[in-house]
Amino acid sequence: MDTVPKGLRSLRACLGCSLIKTIDQFELDGCENCNLFLRIKNDRDAVMRCTSGNFDGMIAVMCPEDSWVSKWQRISKFTKGVYALSVSGTLPREAIKDMRSQGITYRNRDTSQR
Ligand SMILES: [Zn+2]
Repeated sequence: MDTVPKGLRSLRACLGCSLIKTIDQFELDGCENCNLFLRIKNDRDAVMRCTSGNFDGMIAVMCPEDSWVSKWQRISKFTKGVYALSVSGTLPREAIKDMRSQGITYRNRDTSQR
């Protein structure tokens, strides 16, 4: 499974975890971190709803366990890949509910307002 974006066209950031991939990658594999509660695999409409093309900053996280960046972003349990520092937008209400039912607290990734 390839989590590194291929090229810079049509990149989107996951609203659940800020992982950056292309629309095609999200459609093909879903989000490696959020597949449990975001059903976006093979569903392009859902990909458009649960990811955002409006994001700021990119960080490559290769060792999620011990990267200070991932601790700051609270993504230490996440897959390695490229993450956005800030993502504009909010997950659909039902996705947030699904997250909560699995004991995951949704954290809005949009830091541009602060
Ligand atoms: Zn995600």
